[in-house]
Amino acid sequence: MLDALDAGNVRDQPIDELVQSSPLFADITDRSRLKGRCGRCRYQYTCGGCRAMAFYHTGDYMREDPTCFFDPVDRSTVSEHEAETNNVFKKYLLVARAAGAYQPLKQHPVAASALPVEAGKR
Ligand code: SF4
Repeated sequence: MLDALDAGNVRDQPIDELVQSSPLFADITDRSRLKGRCGRCRYQYTCGGCRAMAFYHTGDYMREDPTCFFDPVDRSTVSEHEAETNNVFKKYLLVARAAGAYQPLKQHPVAASALPVEAGKR
C-alpha cells in the first residue's frame, strides 16, 4: 500500500505520533467505515479484512477484502467457523493468562487508561 499511499515515515516521526496524526491510519482503524461485505459483517471489528488486499484489487482500501470467502447478508449471518474460532480463542486466553501474557482489559495498566471512563470504571 505504501508505494502508493503516504502514512508518514518512522525515521522522521515516532510511530505513535504517526498513528495518531495520519489520515490513512485514522481511516483504516475506523472499522465503522468499512464497505461491502466487511461493512455488513458481524466480524467487522474483530477481523475487518485486509486493507492492503482491498486496495490492491480495487484502489480503495476501505472496500471489502476480496480474498475473504465469507459472504454475510448482514450482521446476523454467522460463519460456520465461529464456534470453533471462539473455542480456540478461549484456549489461547487460558494459556496467555497462565503465562502472564494477558490481563483483562480493565486490569491492564496501559489499556485501562485508554478506555472511556465508564468502560474502565476509573
Ligand atoms: S470475515 Fe470476511 S467479510 Fe467479514 S470482516 Fe473479515 S474479511 Fe470482511
